Amino acid sequence: MNHEYDVTIIGAGILGASLAFWLSEKLDARIAIIDREKKPALHASRRNTGVIHRPFHLDPAKRKISALASNASYIFWKELSSRYSLPWKQVGTLKVALEDRDLAVLEKYLKWGEENGMDREEMELLSGSEVLKIEPEVRCPGALLIKSEASVDFALYAEKLIELSISNGAKFLGGSRVTRISEQGEGVEILVTDGSKTTRIKSRILINAAGGESLDLARQLDLGREYAVLFFRGDYWRVSQDSGLRIRRNIYSVPRHASFPFLDPHFIVRHDGSNDVGPNAVPVLGPYAYKGFSESFARAVKTVFGKPLYPKLRLVFNREFLSLAYSEWMSTLSKRAMASRVARFIPRLKHQMLVERIPGGVRSQVISSSGIIHDPVILVGGRSIHVINYNSPGATGAPGFAAYIYRLADEKGFTEGLKKRQPTHSDLIDVVEKRLDLL
Ligand SMILES: Cc1cc2nc3c(=O)[nH]c(=O)nc-3n(C[C@H](O)[C@H](O)[C@H](O)COP(=O)(O)OP(=O)(O)OC[C@H]3O[C@@H](n4cnc5c(N)ncnc54)[C@H](O)[C@@H]3O)c2cc1C
Repeated sequence: MNHEYDVTIIGAGILGASLAFWLSEKLDARIAIIDREKKPALHASRRNTGVIHRPFHLDPAKRKISALASNASYIFWKELSSRYSLPWKQVGTLKVALEDRDLAVLEKYLKWGEENGMDREEMELLSGSEVLKIEPEVRCPGALLIKSEASVDFALYAEKLIELSISNGAKFLGGSRVTRISEQGEGVEILVTDGSKTTRIKSRILINAAGGESLDLARQLDLGREYAVLFFRGDYWRVSQDSGLRIRRNIYSVPRHASFPFLDPHFIVRHDGSNDVGPNAVPVLGPYAYKGFSESFARAVKTVFGKPLYPKLRLVFNREFLSLAYSEWMSTLSKRAMASRVARFIPRLKHQMLVERIPGGVRSQVISSSGIIHDPVILVGGRSIHVINYNSPGATGAPGFAAYIYRLADEKGFTEGLKKRQPTHSDLIDVVEKRLDLL
C-alpha cells in the first residue's frame, strides 16, 4: 500500500491533540490529525468544568491508569501554561462531607492521594469550623482541602498542542469527518468527507481518539462488539456576579452515587473568575445533543436500538438509575432543583442567583453486560489503537495517556520502520514519562 501518512489520529480534542504532540515529538514521521470540525476541541474538551484534577479520588487498585496519567500530567500543564501564557488559576478545591459518614471517605481519599503520588502537603483534612474560617459560605461536618487543583481552559491547551504539532510537521485536516475505516494488510484505509466530497486516505497506523464516535468507528473493525455507549450531558448554571457569594475555591461534595456516572454538581470558580454550578448528568441520545434529547432522529434510534441491547436494558430496568435520571433532568429544567443540590453545602445559594443555563459537554459512557465501566478502554487492532470511554479526569490526564498510548504502539511494533527523533520540547516530554516510569 502506498501510504500518504505514517500515523493518522482521528479527533482533535484534548486527547487527540496530546497524541499529535507526543507522536510528532517522538517520531520523524508524516502525521495527520483529522477532525470533523474546522477547529480543534469543540466538544467535550471545551465544554467541561476546566479543573486540573489531582488523583486523590481515584482508587489506585481500580483506576491505576487514570491516576498515573493525571499525576504525571500536572507539571506538564503547569509548565505549558507558564511558557505560552495560557490560563492557570490555582484556586484549590474543597471536597466537602455532606454528613458524618462521609468523613471516612475523605480519610480514604487522603491515603489514595498519597498512593497515587501526591505530596502530603497538597492535602489537608479540615473540621467544619476550620472550613468556615477559609470559606465562610460553606457548611459541612468536614472537608479535604486540595491546594494544588487549578482552573484552566482545556480548549486553549488543545489548540496550543495542535499548533506545536503543526510546527513539528504534522497536518491538521479540519472539517473532515471520518465515515469509514478498514485495515488492509500493512495499513489502514480511511474515508473522509467534508460534506461535499469523499477522500480516501492511506495510513500505516491509525489512532482513534474520536470521543463520542470512537466506539462506532472501532466497531467497523469488529472491535469492542461487547460494549454499548450511553450519553450524559453535563449542564451548568451561571451564578450572577451580584450574588454576593464570596467563594474562592472550587467546592465539590463527596459523591452520593459513585457507581453511576451521575455527577453531584459543584460550585466552580472558573479561570476568568466567573462562577457556575454544575454539571449534572442528563441522559441524552447522542454525543452532540447540546439541545433536547438528540442531534438527529437517526442517532437517537442507533443509541436506543443499536446492539448490544442487553447492557442497556439491564441499566434501564435498574430503579435507582431511573430515579437518578429523573432528578438529573429536573436540575436541567429547573434552576430551583439545581440550586437546592448545591445549597446542601452552600446554604446562601438561591435559585434567583442562577442567571443562565449553559449546556455542557456530553459524556460518552461505555457499558458492558457487567455494568458501567469507569476507566478508559483501549482496543487494539492489526494496525490501529482505539480509545473509548475517555471520561473525567480525561482532560487532566491527556498528556500522560498519550505517552502511555505511544509506548503501547511501540510495544506492538506499530512504530517499526519509523525514524525516532530527538524531541523539540524534551523537558515537557520527560517530565511526564519520568512520572509514568516510562523512561
Ligand atoms: C460536563 C463535563 C465536565 C468535565 N470536567 C472535567 C474537568 O474539570 N477536568 C477533567 O480533567 N476532565 C473533565 N471532563 C472530562 C474531559 O472533558 C474529557 O475526558 C475529555 O475532554 C475527552 O477528550 P477527547 O479528546 O477524548 O474527546 P472530545 O473532546 O470529544 O474530542 C473528540 C474529537 O473527535 C472529533 N470526532 C468525532 N468523531 C469524528 C469523526 N467521525 N471524524 C473526525 N473527527 C471526529 C470531534 O469533533 C472531537 O473534536 C469533563 C467532561 C464533561 C462531559
